[in-house]
Amino acid sequence: MALGEFDLIRRYFSRATPSAALGVGDDAALVAPTPGLQLAIAADTLVEGRHFFAGADPYSLGWKALAVNLSDMAAMGARPRWFTLCLTLPRAEPEWLEAFAAGLYTVAERHGVELIGGDTTSGPMAFSVQILGEVAPNLALRRDGARVGDDVWLSGPTGAAALAVEARYNRLTLEPVDLHHCAARLDRPEPRVALGLALAGVAHAAIDVSDGLLADAGHLAERSGVALRLWMAQLPALPVSAALMTSDAALRAAVSGGDDYELCFTAPPVQREFIHQLGEKLGLPLALIGQVEAGEGVSLSDLTGRPYRADRQGFDHFGA
Ligand code: ADP
Ligand code: MG
Repeated sequence: MALGEFDLIRRYFSRATPSAALGVGDDAALVAPTPGLQLAIAADTLVEGRHFFAGADPYSLGWKALAVNLSDMAAMGARPRWFTLCLTLPRAEPEWLEAFAAGLYTVAERHGVELIGGDTTSGPMAFSVQILGEVAPNLALRRDGARVGDDVWLSGPTGAAALAVEARYNRLTLEPVDLHHCAARLDRPEPRVALGLALAGVAHAAIDVSDGLLADAGHLAERSGVALRLWMAQLPALPVSAALMTSDAALRAAVSGGDDYELCFTAPPVQREFIHQLGEKLGLPLALIGQVEAGEGVSLSDLTGRPYRADRQGFDHFGA
């Protein structure tokens, strides 16, 4: 049975939105932001063939479309509240939509955000989510707040998602257990929202690692007008087999692979104890991976302490 645009919206994307004054169904949604807070607004798009493979699991796509946006809220130290979904699909298939909506709403419920509107069109598959969050004035974790003398932290291991991409292109063979772990990181990333909220007022600057650690640390360094010195030996270890963990592919993925959605942040050394305890409380392997220095750019010491030369910094849609 063919599913029309309005049936589709009503059936799959019209759950109750108690936190909004008006949700899906009118020309626009209405929300009442909390007085005294600033709105944090971000958007992220996933395009078939660019961000995911054709035929990808719809539950994971729904999950990831929202999770990558929640990661932007986490990186700002903002509390996510509402989001919209622009959905472009070649066909309206009930089974596919059911699974996509289940993934999307699972993440939404976990993080207390509500789908309040969007747009639905036919065309090559793509999802665009816009998210609205709230943060107290002056507490947002901006990219430009890093100060000389700060520690640089990373919320967890990077590189697993990139290894899964390599495996899906058949450029790398992974043991089944490693493939399972890496694919989960690629397909169903866990946005560090609770961490971002707890770091507001503690960290000086933050960014989520979506394009690669070196690339994203570079954005933070540039915006803050400082240099970041990072130590490869301090990077949190991937929970994969020892052979994979110490391979060149894993090291390369850790420093320049994208799509992990961990937070890279800087904080003054007086916060070390607090941050270690926070990691224990949240069950995150928060790792002190470097130092903020005067200067510019990102330098990385390899496992022997010598400068590490990355062949690429990260992902750039319009890069070479
Ligand atoms: P308009 O023509 O005013 O743009 P639409 O017909 O596109 O309205 O959408 C009707 C309603 O359904 C609006 O409230 C819109 O926000 C909502 N909507 C459309 N697509 C989606 C979607 N994919 N997810 C959630 N809400 C949606
Ligand atoms: Mg519309």
